[in-house]
Amino acid sequence: MRGFIGARQTTLASEIALTGTGVHSGAPVSIILYPADSDTGLRFLLSSGDTDATEIHADQRWVTGVTLCTVLGDGNGASVATVEHLLAALRGLGVDNALIEIDSAEVPIMDGSAARFVEAIDEVGLAELDAPRRYLKILKSVAVEDGGAYGELSPYNGFHLDVEIDFDADMIGKQSIALDLNPGAFRRELSRARTFGFMKDVERLWAAGLALGASLDNTVAIGDDRIINREGLRFPDEFVRHKALDAVGDLALAGAPILGSYKSRRGGHRLNSLVLKALFADDEAWTFVEAPRPAREVRHAELTQLAAVNFAAERS
Ligand SMILES: [Zn+2]
Repeated sequence: MRGFIGARQTTLASEIALTGTGVHSGAPVSIILYPADSDTGLRFLLSSGDTDATEIHADQRWVTGVTLCTVLGDGNGASVATVEHLLAALRGLGVDNALIEIDSAEVPIMDGSAARFVEAIDEVGLAELDAPRRYLKILKSVAVEDGGAYGELSPYNGFHLDVEIDFDADMIGKQSIALDLNPGAFRRELSRARTFGFMKDVERLWAAGLALGASLDNTVAIGDDRIINREGLRFPDEFVRHKALDAVGDLALAGAPILGSYKSRRGGHRLNSLVLKALFADDEAWTFVEAPRPAREVRHAELTQLAAVNFAAERS
C-alpha cells in the first residue's frame, strides 16, 4: 500500500505504539495510534490515567498556541503541543482517520523530523474504508500578511507547496522549495528534515522553561559559523524542507486533504494558522468535494451491467 492514495478514505491497518520525549517539557511520552472509522478525521485522546480521556480534534478551530510549535486545546485546560510533525506524517501519507492516544501534553519529538512516524505508519500500512475521500477544495485565493510573513492558498488541481524562508543568518539565508505533494514526495523530500534552532537562543529558551528536551539528537543546532551536530545536515536546504514539513502538518488542521496550492514566505506555525482561519472565514473560498469513483470501479459496474444484459438475453 506504499504510495497509495485512492478515492476512498483510509485509516491505519493496525495500531502503532511509540515512545519518546517532549521537546519542550523534556518529559517521557507514550502515544498509541489507533485505526478509526470513516469521517472520524484525526483526533487526539489525552489520557492522564485516573480521569477520562479528553478528545481534541485536529482542527484549526482548536489551535491555542503557535509559538515554537502548534498547540491544540479544548478550552478547558487540556492541551497537546507539538502536533505538527505527527500530523504531517499522517496527512503526508494519506491517512484520513486515526485516534492518537497520548499520556502527556506534548507529542514526542523523536529525531526532530517526521521520519520515525512515517516509518511506523509504513510498517503497518493503510486500510481502505468504504466512504469516499473528502477534499477541501480551494475556490479562490486567500492571502494573509503578518509582520513580514506572507501566506496564500489558491486553487490548484492537487496539493502544491511553495515555501521560502529568508533568515538574517549566514548559516540559513534564503532557501526555497516548491513541489507537488503525494506520499512518495513527502517521504523523500520532506519527512526527514529536522527542526532547528540557534545556539544563542537555547539558554533563553531554557530560562523560560522551554526546549528542556532539546538536544543534538532531535534538533539541528546552528552556531555562528557552523552546524553543531556532528553528522551535519541531511539536505543542504534542510531548513526550508522542515518549514514545508511543518506546513503540511499545520494544514492538516483544515480537517481534510487540501486541493489547492499553498505559498508561504518567511512563514511559520502562526502564519499557517492565520491562513486557515482566513480561508474558513470566507465561505466562497472553499468547498468540500468527494473524490470521483476510481476507474476500476466504473469498469466493474459496466461489466456487471454487461453481464446482466447477457443474462437477460439468455433468459428471453
Ligand atoms: Zn517543526
